Amino acid sequence: MIADGYEAFLFDLDGVLYRGADPVPGAAEALARLRSLDKGIAFVTNNSGRSPQRVAERLRAVGVDADADEVETSALTTADVLADRGVRRAFVVGEAGVVAALSEAGIEVAEGEPDAVDAVVVGWDRGADYTKLRVAAVLVQRGASLVATNPDASFPAADGTKWPGAGALLAAIETTTGVRGEVIGKPYPPLLKAAHARAGGGRPLLVGDRLDTDIAGAVGMGWDSLLVLTGISDARDLEGSQVRPTYVADDLRGLFVDP
Ligand SMILES: [Mg+2]
Repeated sequence: MIADGYEAFLFDLDGVLYRGADPVPGAAEALARLRSLDKGIAFVTNNSGRSPQRVAERLRAVGVDADADEVETSALTTADVLADRGVRRAFVVGEAGVVAALSEAGIEVAEGEPDAVDAVVVGWDRGADYTKLRVAAVLVQRGASLVATNPDASFPAADGTKWPGAGALLAAIETTTGVRGEVIGKPYPPLLKAAHARAGGGRPLLVGDRLDTDIAGAVGMGWDSLLVLTGISDARDLEGSQVRPTYVADDLRGLFVDP
């Protein structure tokens, strides 16, 4: 079966393990079975707003056994990457999850209108306004590096409409300054590398529901991937896509069949 070929399983969340507040059929059983096989597991999310503890709670609420130590969020990776680079002080266009992750990594989050910082960090921010974007743009012009937790253009609202995502806020600062931001989340490598380490290393399989972030990210890393058709991308998207997953399955039960 497919699962035999891999040691580390990296799971996207929405559309794979839950859909909004609802469980995805077969997900809890699949995770339990991988654990019984002693596989490494990590949960990977571009969402920068929720802490690892909240993510793990949300997984447990849909029946998926999960520990906060197995969760890699784009906020966490961003904070670790910046701390490793010696960033001491940052200005944030983002919500509490980003601020908490930076603070825990020892990075001071500047309030108000600072004169200078080492980095401007952009995530999803429902409280973003002109002042925040102006301050961020000015700080980048004064030499701060520009980093975004994730590139998502939009946030899928419950009523089916799209709201501006972290990528849309990043674009405002990029357009103003002409500076291209560095993106940490999927499909870019930093988040995926951190998640792989969190799963204990070994041969990875990325499991996701989106061709443009999950599967494209795996392809970029040279990793195998499983596209499950329980979320965003469907069989028709796959037909029209240049991005090819290694495997496709209707749901996570596909991990336990022969390829
Ligand atoms: Mg997803």
